[in-house]
Order: sequence, then C-alpha cells, then structure tokens
Amino acid sequence: MTEATLIDGKAVAAGLRQRVAQAAAELRERHGIIAGLAAILIGADSASQIYVRNKARACAEAGIASFEFRLESDAGLAAILDLVARLNADERVDGILVQLPLPGGIASGQVMAALDPAKDVDGFHPMNVGHLWRGEPGLVPCTPQGILLLLHSLHVDLSGAEAVVLGRSQIVGRPLAALLLAADCTVTVVHSKTRDAAAICRRADILVAALGAPMMVKADWIKPGATVIDVGINRIAAPGPQVRLVGDVDFAAARRVAGAITPVPGGVGPMTIACLLRNTLLAACRRRGLPDQLVLQG
Ligand code: NAP
Repeated sequence: MTEATLIDGKAVAAGLRQRVAQAAAELRERHGIIAGLAAILIGADSASQIYVRNKARACAEAGIASFEFRLESDAGLAAILDLVARLNADERVDGILVQLPLPGGIASGQVMAALDPAKDVDGFHPMNVGHLWRGEPGLVPCTPQGILLLLHSLHVDLSGAEAVVLGRSQIVGRPLAALLLAADCTVTVVHSKTRDAAAICRRADILVAALGAPMMVKADWIKPGATVIDVGINRIAAPGPQVRLVGDVDFAAARRVAGAITPVPGGVGPMTIACLLRNTLLAACRRRGLPDQLVLQG
C-alpha cells in the first residue's frame, strides 16, 4: 500500500522566508526603507506571548523591524483604539497585528475595523475581507494564504476541483473558501450544523480541516488520492505527563488513503508566519506605491 506524499510546510515556508528577506534587503538598499511590523499584545495569555516572541524573531531573521506594544488585560477598548490610531499614523510601521484572542468583553471586530486597511497584515479589516470576496488585491489572511501557497507548491490543478473546507471561522475557513473559489474550485464549507459531513468530505479532491477537533477526520472521510490539509493544532494527553500535538485529521490512518497530506506540526503552521512576513513586505511596498512583484512570487 502506498503512503501519501508528505507536504513539507517547513521547507516551503523556509523558501518563502528567504524570498521575503531578499525583498526586504532590496527595499532597504534601493529605497532606504526598513519594513516594520508592530504587534499589540493585550493581557498575559502565555500562548499569545510565545506567538508574539516567535513573530519578532522571524522578523529579525527577515530584516524586518518589529515593535511590541503590551497592554494590561483590563486596558479597555478606548486604550486599544488609541494605540491603534498611533500605530496607524506611525511611518515606521507598515503592518499592525493584534494578537488574538482579546481578553473577554472586547469585540475583536471593533478593533480590526479601526486598523488602517493598508497596514492590516492579518487581513481581518472589513475592507480587506471585501476585497478578498470580490477577487480584488488586498491583504489576505495569513493561514489561508499559506494553504494556497502549499497547494501551488504541489502543482495541484485547482480549476474545477471539488474543495471541501471544514470550519467557517473568520481567520481560516471563510477566507480560505474565498481563495479557493477565486482559484476556480467548487467549494463546500462544512460547519457544526452540517448534516453528514463525512459524505461531503468523501467528494473532496482537496480537503482542508480547520475545526479545532482532535483527529475528527477519519480515513473513511477521505477520497482515495485526495490532497488533505490539516490546519488543526490540538494538544491532547499523551502517556505520562506529556502532551501531544495533533491535528484535526487522524493522520496515521489518513496517510494510507490520501494522495498528499500535511503533518502536524510542520505543515500549515510554518506557512502562517512566513505569510505574515510576506504581507508586511507587501504593505511596505504598496503604501509607498512601489511594485510588489518581488514579494508576490511564490
Ligand atoms: P474556530 O474559530 O473555533 O472555528 C472552528 C470551526 O469549526 C467553526 O466554524 C465550527 O463550526 C467548526 N466545527 C467545530 N467542531 C465541529 C464539528 N464537530 N463538526 C463540524 N464543524 C465543526 O477555529 P479556527 O480559529 O478556525 O481554528 C481551527 C483550528 O485551526 C484550531 O485547531 C486552531 O488552533 C488551528 N489554527 C491553526 C493555524 C496555523 O497556523 N496552523 C492558524 C489558525 C488556526 P460553527 O461555526 O458552526 O461553530
């Protein structure tokens, strides 16, 4: 029995990060511009602190300046909007990311809508969401963008392909559905009210799981030879005091049916951060009316 090809997100992401670093160096040398990314961290969520630290390290490696702004968890909406306004006006800052989740009681939508859409490197501002669904240039959310780049790296024929997206969140499922539609896939989105998700998944040439449900997608949900992208990051108990990281797909079983599959970790995760760097460079170019071809390749 043949096993599915492993989709090496780390390698694809490393290539992208290298191209971003080259573009950042060119921007610096030819135009004297150092692209900058500002991260806003509200509260003391430990996972968020790690994400922000990793993003700062990735910026440094790519030659992008990074700025970190911390607010207390009880800072309140007015203080957050005040900081966003200052960063919108700060010429050193090309991209602003607000680390989610926000502390309870603060609606992320109001904060996202306050960002300058040209600096919205997460692609969550309503203007960028609109551009995405209209098929117009804008800033595209990082995880779905990374998934498309992974599919392109496999030379998967997207035109007319049946794509099933499991999950309809604002950060993954919905924007991914828009990107797949723009790439001429026939797209179905599955969510918690969907009847017989397994039968729908079995139609998929491209199956993307973004549920947050550990190993929910079983081998018999997968069409033989399908391309399976597992976005899920779930920590489950392992023997002893350890925890194990698993995706939304039952990887070991799915690998015997799929044609190609992403591992967790090492699949979609590395692409997300690489696309954040890419978006920051794109924002730096576009804000100044510079061509962005260099950053857009691959
Ligand atoms: P989310 O906001 O919690 O959304 C989950 C979606 O899955 C919802 O649309 C929900 O449906 C649907 N869903 C959940 N359980 C279901 C079930 N049993 N049957 C059918 N649909 C179900 O999650 P998210 O932010 O999109 O993240 C999804 C996963 O991806 C998480 O594990 C997260 O950690 C991971 N993630 C990874 C990356 C990365 O870089 N690798 C980035 C972002 C997220 P309803 O809408 O009906 O509730």
